[in-house]
Amino acid sequence: MTTASPSETARRNLVGLGRDALAAEMTAFGAEPFRARQLWHWIYHRGAADFGVMTSLSKGFREKLATTYELCRPTLSRELASIDRTRKWLLRFPDGQEVETVHIPEEERGTLCVSSQVGCTLTCSFCHTGTQRLVRNLTAAEIVAQVMIARDALCEWPSPQEDRQVTNIVLMGMGEPLLNYENVAAALKIIMDPEGLAISRRKITLSTAGVVPMMRRCGTELGVNLAVSLHAVRDDVRDRLVPLNRKYPIAELLAACRSYPGSSNARRITFEYVMLKGVNDSPADARELVRLLAGIPAKVNLIPFNQWPGAPYECSPDEAIKVFSDIVFAAGYSAPVRTPRGRDILAACGQLKSASIKLRRSVPEPLPA
Ligand code: SAH
Repeated sequence: MTTASPSETARRNLVGLGRDALAAEMTAFGAEPFRARQLWHWIYHRGAADFGVMTSLSKGFREKLATTYELCRPTLSRELASIDRTRKWLLRFPDGQEVETVHIPEEERGTLCVSSQVGCTLTCSFCHTGTQRLVRNLTAAEIVAQVMIARDALCEWPSPQEDRQVTNIVLMGMGEPLLNYENVAAALKIIMDPEGLAISRRKITLSTAGVVPMMRRCGTELGVNLAVSLHAVRDDVRDRLVPLNRKYPIAELLAACRSYPGSSNARRITFEYVMLKGVNDSPADARELVRLLAGIPAKVNLIPFNQWPGAPYECSPDEAIKVFSDIVFAAGYSAPVRTPRGRDILAACGQLKSASIKLRRSVPEPLPA
């Protein structure tokens, strides 16, 4: 284990501070108010990873900043690229915890899948992340850093206005974003800022398993698109798949969707539905789904179950998925089947992280010096 020197531990990370917090920090530091704006530009528009490159600041000021502050990026513990050009980064934070961030390039867009927690407390029975023991919230800095690491790796600084590789962000990585609302909100406000990373709220989708009491606030304060992990049309089935359903059952969840601020036919709520053989994939389930969604500006995203070792489910056969999709589509909803991407780099939730833990466990621990 390496121990940081006292001067290192004392330095405060500026990445992850919102505009107001950065301004307050600079005032306390004795700097003029416009310094905060210059720093913002360097950190979030130019992607500066150290003060030395900030040429619009005097050398003396840069040196002074560097004695008190740092611009901290998590370390990249693994990086994988799929033959389909999906890229996956495993990030390690100073406490040794790790999360995954995935970039999925498509014809017209590039989506970054961002994590909000280390592990997850919801224990959805088909999700691999739920089997991981350690859970903690990510800080705003750690959430923002995922976007910055992707921009670093894709050589996408300064933040371009056009022809971006990161056009969209989905909070669909590890964790439940609405159980870490404050940090997710702080991070998204930084990510959306037009003078920085500049990814508009219209290009950001937050996926929730259905933390009903937080949904309205999310819509009002952040105005991002909403995706809901529905996965079942009956409470007894959903109780098993998404145990949070026992607290917030389907009727309450759908009522919160009906009143989600800002949703409209132009901005529909996405309902995610994982296709599990013999569990939730019958034509009757599809018809019930259509009935439940009546009156909600909705689109349905059918997700073929991503198998993981020891999972108690199998993916529905292609034919069952097609029949299901046709029924939903015939009722007037778009119902695309999500194409699995990056299978060769363990793209299913949490798989890369657990592979890395296994790898490290097989290496003997070094003896203390
Ligand atoms: N906690 C949030 C976001 C994280 S998961 C949520 O539940 O929405 C992102 C999506 O992937 C969710 O719809 C989740 O249910 C789904 N998912 C998790 N494990 C999966 C698996 N093995 N196969 C297919 N989809 C999975």
